[in-house]
Amino acid sequence: MAQLQQSPYLMYSDGEGNIFEDETLYAVGRAGWDAFPIPTEDWILLPTGGNLYELPGRRGIGIDVQTGEMRLCEKGWAVAAFIPPAHTGLFMAAYETVDPEAPTLPLFCYTAAGWHNNEFYVPAVRIEKDIRQECGGFEQEQIDNGLGKFLEAYPHNRLVKHLAENCCNTYHCPAARNYFMGRWECPVPSSPACNANCIGCISFQPQEEEIVSTQDRLTFKPTAEEIIEFTVPHLESAPFPIVSFGQGCEGEPLLMWETIRKSILEIRKHTSKGSININTNGSKPAAVDALCQAGLNSIRVSTNSAQKHIYEAYYRPNNYEFEDIVESLKVVRKYGGWASINYFVFPGMTDTVEEYEALRKLIQDTDLTMIQWRNFNIDPDWYLGKIGIVETGELMGVKQLQELIHEEFPDVKFGYYNPPIERINGDYDLHFAH
Ligand code: SF4
Repeated sequence: MAQLQQSPYLMYSDGEGNIFEDETLYAVGRAGWDAFPIPTEDWILLPTGGNLYELPGRRGIGIDVQTGEMRLCEKGWAVAAFIPPAHTGLFMAAYETVDPEAPTLPLFCYTAAGWHNNEFYVPAVRIEKDIRQECGGFEQEQIDNGLGKFLEAYPHNRLVKHLAENCCNTYHCPAARNYFMGRWECPVPSSPACNANCIGCISFQPQEEEIVSTQDRLTFKPTAEEIIEFTVPHLESAPFPIVSFGQGCEGEPLLMWETIRKSILEIRKHTSKGSININTNGSKPAAVDALCQAGLNSIRVSTNSAQKHIYEAYYRPNNYEFEDIVESLKVVRKYGGWASINYFVFPGMTDTVEEYEALRKLIQDTDLTMIQWRNFNIDPDWYLGKIGIVETGELMGVKQLQELIHEEFPDVKFGYYNPPIERINGDYDLHFAH
């Protein structure tokens, strides 16, 4: 794609589902509480699978093409982009909330967006070449066949029923759809409870909050027998197979570590294929140690920050601390396992100098293997307000942060998904095809 020679134009919504460009204003981006011009080289075409959102009660900020001054677009409501997985947003949408009754925005990411030559643009980078969640790769007929086949094969398995009815058919979870297509990463939710209280939890939101969780939490505790029954055949038959504990439709899997340990031991009696991964808040390093002894291959610890005070302000942990999640990463590396962070990227917080220094220290202290640069799905004003951030420190820019980390730690992999064992033990850059 040819690099843009000028900034794209700002877009606005008429409040009736129609979006227009405003050729009197160039689009800008947001980091923290501030608006910034976006370097033209940072803009890419909105990738397939991306969406555009109207931001009710909010006016977009742009640069006047005549005066070069920043001002609001009074023609309609602000517009943002939801960029698809495998891409990291470099700037959020810049807007000013003008309606005191403006609703809190739901749990999606709000990346800046612009219009140029009949095309939508976003400031983002493709950070992952794995294609497992490309929307064009999901064949509904194949999914339906898989649903029928697996529900018939496991008629009494509550977990397969949950993955079919809730995850695949209701939430359209890409991991569940891949499972029913018999390929790649298979999700294994297991925990109805959690020991954290994340402000932007996607599986549980307190009654008093205006927003709702995007999935409902699992309501039962699966047995090891239920887990083993469908995961062993998946590891045996799927291409690039991964079994992943810790999904968006549950609480914290480490609260179910005994069941998971029993499952891993039994799975490995039947097959040595594939990777067994856990997505977790990393709160219980001793449990992680027991899972590594049982045969866990990789861990992904979620975090909004490498700084204790920012982490704890968001996660609001019960009976654990930031130091515990660091320890869990170290434990997996001690066993030679693959250790990733699920790093919630929020321009203006992720790219401060303080965060950069803390991230460097985290990588050094844990011998981290991978950073999954994930877009933070949260209302920016709501998030900053809830964690008490009134102003952000000196900013580097997300792109420069990634470049500096890569320069200093070239062995630390960048991506968006948990890698299969073929990438962990073999050629990390192997090519994927549908
Ligand atoms: S750790 Fe996960 S399940 Fe627990 S509160 Fe946070 S987002 Fe929700």
